[in-house]
Amino acid sequence: MTLTTEQRTIIEGAIRDIPDFPKPGVVFKDITTILNNAEAFTTLQQHLKERYISYDLDYVAGIDARGFIFGAALARDLGVGFVPIRKKGKLPYTTVSEKYVLEYGVDEVEIHIDAFTAKKSARVLLIDDLIATGGTAVAAASLISKVGAECVESCFILGLTFLDGITKLEEKSPVYSVIEVK
Ligand code: AMP
Repeated sequence: MTLTTEQRTIIEGAIRDIPDFPKPGVVFKDITTILNNAEAFTTLQQHLKERYISYDLDYVAGIDARGFIFGAALARDLGVGFVPIRKKGKLPYTTVSEKYVLEYGVDEVEIHIDAFTAKKSARVLLIDDLIATGGTAVAAASLISKVGAECVESCFILGLTFLDGITKLEEKSPVYSVIEVK
């Protein structure tokens, strides 16, 4: 299930473009203007619920930090658990980690080793606000399989289709972008 034209107009209209943030040449997609717009936030979360209600999910896993907002709201709507995938050094219990390459240097994401153990072969939806180069999401999807669960789909509010992140991630899981930015 994809967006209706009306839903698309409401959600797309609530995204704010910030040119040259955090550095020259980058157009930052600001989603805080979805969050503080009750109609847009509700429309988005209702769409996600309608899409994923039939996926028989056991968990939603959100990527630090904006993925927590959409992911936790969706998990609650679907009546399933929420799992945070965090930047290195933030999770207090035993973790499994995955490095990924940035433009300059490397970064690392982590998950608790027992995040999905309440359910055998758990079915997990991965969610974040945006996929660009895909480095973060590919590492996050790898973590889900490393701890014994299945990433049944990866969902983004915005997918930047002019970069190759979506193609890279599709090797690990199906990818759904609510709104594609061309
Ligand atoms: P990437 O690993 O390159 O796919 O980057 C994805 C992460 O960086 C996501 O968590 C996004 O929140 C953030 N990000 C990357 N590019 C942008 C952008 N143009 N606007 C807003 N957030 C971005």
